[in-house]
Amino acid sequence: MSSNVLVFIEQRGGKILPASFQLLAAANELCRIGGGQVEACVLGQEIDSLARPVTEQGAKKVYLVDDGELALYRATAYTAGVAAVVQQAKPKTMLIPTTFLGRDLAARLAARLHAGLVMDCMDVGYADGELVATKTMYAGKFTAKFQLAKDRLQIATIRSNAYTALPRNEGVSGEVAKVPFNIDAKDARLRVKEVVATSSGIKDVTEADIIVSGGRSLKSEGNFKILFELAAVLDGAVGASRAACDAGYQPHTRQVGLTGKVVTPRLYLACGIDGAIQHLAGMRGSKVIVAINTKKDAPIFKVATYGCVADLFQLVPLLTEEFKKMKA
Ligand code: FAD
Repeated sequence: MSSNVLVFIEQRGGKILPASFQLLAAANELCRIGGGQVEACVLGQEIDSLARPVTEQGAKKVYLVDDGELALYRATAYTAGVAAVVQQAKPKTMLIPTTFLGRDLAARLAARLHAGLVMDCMDVGYADGELVATKTMYAGKFTAKFQLAKDRLQIATIRSNAYTALPRNEGVSGEVAKVPFNIDAKDARLRVKEVVATSSGIKDVTEADIIVSGGRSLKSEGNFKILFELAAVLDGAVGASRAACDAGYQPHTRQVGLTGKVVTPRLYLACGIDGAIQHLAGMRGSKVIVAINTKKDAPIFKVATYGCVADLFQLVPLLTEEFKKMKA
């Protein structure tokens, strides 16, 4: 086993997820403490062009597993592909983004490689050569530290925006290694025939840097239009509280919270959301929280970086206009 850190670079349709670049920064920090070099692996079909952006963001070596079988994500094939990279690279630690794909892959990989695994970490470091991963638990009430034994591969999945990507070093290349892909008959049995997007062109809350979220106070699906307009100007996504989703104003795929999605964007705009503990569990890790609420003692203000005691129906359109002017 080397002391290198291997980052799984998640790509879809040839586009690398920003969270992957943030993980290269986390890997860089681990190598600063524990030695070794930052390495990365990319899986997919016709992915040669993806090696350069990865080296420009800090990887010294990129492993490419390029095969038609990997064009669309499927757990068995990707696990086989990453396992082949691990066999060749022999990293000490592996970092994977906490996305749906990342969670699925990390669990299978850990089982197959008998590796240690901590999911959904906010921070990683080393103590006596063992990976120490920090994550929140019980709806954000506790912060727990997990230490993984160093006698085996240590895998951690990391939340979006927990680390800031390093500045891009344009033109910097690194070593590129092509890893042959082989899949046995058992793993080949599972196939993805078609992927149907549930919403075209609208960002998922887990992938957005900026989220404009609305609560029950929006009163109807139609009224969410003003949040979509603001989100469009900010290039963000629209989220919602459970009360808003239960009322049918938004699909549950947009629900943020304990029983919805956990998000950590750079900016979370909570519009007419009270701030119940179950909602906070999903968004309190956001870098900057702006709350708009008519009730000055609404619990959301306790976690907000900036609070506006205002009617969202008046303030949100004004914000949209101002941001439009700024962008123009
Ligand atoms: P409300 O509580 O009705 O709050 C509306 C807010 O809007 C109020 O603060 C009000 O002052 C403000 N307001 C009203 N009009 C305006 C206006 N014009 N302008 C500005 N502000 C205005 N909730 C989640 O969100 N996510 C979860 O994942 C989740 N999981 C749960 C799991 C369990 C087991 C349970 C029991 C509950 C869960 N809940 C979850 C529900 C949670 O407890 C709250 O009921 C819910 O978050 C309330 O949603 P809300 O803030 O939109 O609505």
